[in-house]
Amino acid sequence: MGKCMIIGCGGVASVAIHKCCQNSEVFEGIMIASRTKSKCDVLRDKLQPTTKTVIETAQVNADNVDELIALINSYKPDVVLNLALPYQDLTIMDACLATKTHYVDTANYEPLDTAKFEYKWQWAYREKFEQAGITALLGSGFDPGVTGVFSAYAMKHEFDEINYIDILDCNGGDHGYPFATNFNPEINIREVSAKGSYIENGEWVETEPMEIKRVYNFKGVGEKDMYLLHHEELESLALNIKGIKRIRFFMTFGQSYLTHLKCLENVGMTSIEPIMYEGKEIVPLQFLKAVLPDPATLGARTVGKTNIGCIFRGRKDGKDKTYYLYNICDHQECYKEVGSQAVSYTTGVPAMIGAMMIMTGKWSKAGVYNIEEFDPDPFMQALNKWGLPWEEDFNPVLVE
Ligand code: NDP
Repeated sequence: MGKCMIIGCGGVASVAIHKCCQNSEVFEGIMIASRTKSKCDVLRDKLQPTTKTVIETAQVNADNVDELIALINSYKPDVVLNLALPYQDLTIMDACLATKTHYVDTANYEPLDTAKFEYKWQWAYREKFEQAGITALLGSGFDPGVTGVFSAYAMKHEFDEINYIDILDCNGGDHGYPFATNFNPEINIREVSAKGSYIENGEWVETEPMEIKRVYNFKGVGEKDMYLLHHEELESLALNIKGIKRIRFFMTFGQSYLTHLKCLENVGMTSIEPIMYEGKEIVPLQFLKAVLPDPATLGARTVGKTNIGCIFRGRKDGKDKTYYLYNICDHQECYKEVGSQAVSYTTGVPAMIGAMMIMTGKWSKAGVYNIEEFDPDPFMQALNKWGLPWEEDFNPVLVE
């Protein structure tokens, strides 16, 4: 059917690449292009004997628009799947515009020097993408990603209006380390050490970091502490889902993780302000990343399950209704299949599916769109087929 260029070759990309290779009918060719080419070559050497997908590799600095344009022009992909870091979103979008190539990512743009993620920078490309006749699909991971597809599906099939959404992200996995992050440590720590926030009646309400705590009993995992965080899909879902009065995001954290994080914060190790060390400028958080376990190595050691989903409350046919859509994913099953733990898996599978939606033309409209702005049905079918089956509950326990 076509060719996809995947930028980045870390934890999430590795899963997406495995999944593209399982799906050769759609992904006839992929190019893995990243900063460290040797990582791309290792993956190609492992996967090429197992798949009909023709795998090519390249070195690219995705901060450099001209380099990206040259590479896209030489490979001529149908879609660029951006699985590098949020800092690269805009340069990759610029290169897609210049080459009229569709764009997909899993995380919204964040400037390096301000830990503040919001959609305004990428939404500013709407007209340009429309005029170029190409699609940018924003946020095709799990959260954002599947949570948006779940919301669109609930809106289409279960509700006349949705008034409340609680997104619950539970990782019941245990990797045996006192402290490690399940995806890129820098991005992860920036996210969890920021102030919390949620949207109520169209306004952002800000909280101190980890100020709001709830306990929830997750199917497949059990009872966990969870904390309200700021999360990027709140911004788009509040605009795109009809009738929203309040939308919140909760993530589970164990006590050991939080104690370590507090200590690291207290000593200044999570700061993104550069400091001078022995005559060289370093960013404490980037240094911390270098000493923490690489998330890509956690797969073999992680046991347990994730459970991520959305609880909806709203109205259908004049009556109140509640509905919970979620996926349970087992860390060790993921490791057996693709050599990664479930946090990378639950992001990499929807990334592949998002690229597939565009390549097959199932999702086709020019402009910049969040994932909930497309028809959720083919994506929901693909989740069941490609390893992230969903479950529903029409009488869930609600979060206070
Ligand atoms: P990793 O750090 O494991 O991988 C990032 C990859 O990008 C690495 O291969 C890195 O290269 C490459 N890279 C970084 N900078 C550049 C550059 N300038 N040019 C070329 N390549 C570059 O991160 P993850 O795989 O954990 O995360 C990938 C993305 O997925 C992130 O944006 C993250 O926010 C997002 N994410 C989304 C989730 C969701 O549910 N929506 C959940 C989890 C993650 P090198 O190997 O040289 O370091």
